[in-house]
Amino acid sequence: MTTEMQVRSRNLALNCVACGGGTHEPLYAISIDRLVKCTVCGLIRFESLPSEIQLDEIYQGDTYGDLAYFDFDEFKEKSNHYLQMRRMAKYIKPHLQPSDQVLEIGSGRGTFLRICRELEINVMGLEISASLAEKVSQSLGVQVKTGTVEDLSGSNASYRAVFSFDVIEHCPNPLDWLNRINRLTVPGGHLFLSTVSVDNLLCRIGDFFYKLGVLAPLKRLYPDFHLFYFNPRNLVQLVEAAGFEVLELEQENYDCRKASRNRLVQIGLRVIYLWHDLTRRKTNLYLVGRKKA
Ligand SMILES: [Zn+2]
Repeated sequence: MTTEMQVRSRNLALNCVACGGGTHEPLYAISIDRLVKCTVCGLIRFESLPSEIQLDEIYQGDTYGDLAYFDFDEFKEKSNHYLQMRRMAKYIKPHLQPSDQVLEIGSGRGTFLRICRELEINVMGLEISASLAEKVSQSLGVQVKTGTVEDLSGSNASYRAVFSFDVIEHCPNPLDWLNRINRLTVPGGHLFLSTVSVDNLLCRIGDFFYKLGVLAPLKRLYPDFHLFYFNPRNLVQLVEAAGFEVLELEQENYDCRKASRNRLVQIGLRVIYLWHDLTRRKTNLYLVGRKKA
């Protein structure tokens, strides 16, 4: 990360956004900043959070869309994540009228927009990176606005469904972000979210290595551009606090092929995932919610 990130503002005094708890314990020092954990609900976050200016510097840089993160073509490779996105698109399809438009916050390289186009769902993308928004909008012929959910807050838009995959962990205030989504959603409208989970064997292995002084695995599991790390319980608690009821919470493993090109790493992950499948505690959470009437 950039040197600008090193001047993130301290905000340890903030209460936990998921449970309101006021006490945190130090967890890991693996990055430019410490990770801390809420002693009540277990929500993990960096001790300090970047300012809006610092976030702009990360996401508006021309190189953001070129991150290795975006290298893997979910749509082409039919990844686990792609299959979950597709399942969610099919879930909403029967609830939609022909005039309804759904919103995807954080459309990235357009995987979900392509799925919607294929299933004939009218979708608008919202993407923080101007260069990605323009590139995807032009190549897919789907409307993609540049901006964040804050930029839509003044509009009268009301969506039957809002989708957002792997965005919530990037938000400086996830509760405020969900409240804004709530206001953009019609009563009874659906919310579809995904994020990483830290309640699984892979994270415990990372923790084990950390205690031995080996930091590399945890650095992969807790990158510093993710500001919050959830478990299934505190994610549900947070979504409910924002006025949604939770209808479904599925778990899925991060696609081995996306995690690494190295075959040995992929095999190692597959072995760990056998345990994840058995315990139903996997690396990623997929939540379906509905706005309370
Ligand atoms: Zn908490």
